Amino acid sequence: MILVSSCLAGLEVRYDGNHSLHSKVRRLVEHKKAVTVCPELLGGFGTPREPAEIIGESGEDVLDGNARVVDKTGKDVTASYIEGAEKALEIAKRVGATTIILKENSPSCGSSMIYNGEFNGKKVVGDGVTSALLKRNGFTVISEKQFVEGNGSPSVES
Ligand code: SF4
Repeated sequence: MILVSSCLAGLEVRYDGNHSLHSKVRRLVEHKKAVTVCPELLGGFGTPREPAEIIGESGEDVLDGNARVVDKTGKDVTASYIEGAEKALEIAKRVGATTIILKENSPSCGSSMIYNGEFNGKKVVGDGVTSALLKRNGFTVISEKQFVEGNGSPSVES
């Protein structure tokens, strides 16, 4: 089974109440090859919510207690991001995820690039908190861009 970010499948779960529909990803769900997960909703957030970024390094550092996730108002939301990551990991294990396609740039789902923690739109290399935890547990995580480019991508044909 494939695990994908809910917003890529067209669910309106982003912080701003929108989705990040990716038609190829949605087809995986429609063909019952993939199930959706939104770590931030699993962490207890609603939609819409304040945007958040990792302050200081990446999701790996958050898991190690060396960095925080802070929302745009300055509130520390680290614990909720970790909770969401742990719940997403449980789901990945439960469904036996062979491939995981997560939304790039998110502080939860980013798997190679994330925002730099200064809310200025600039990105840095790094994993979001959920991607970091999944990778730490041996799962392969790719972005929607890698999926389109065919890097480790599952087929969407039925
Ligand atoms: S946490 Fe992941 S699935 Fe949820 S809205 Fe953000 S990028 Fe999409």
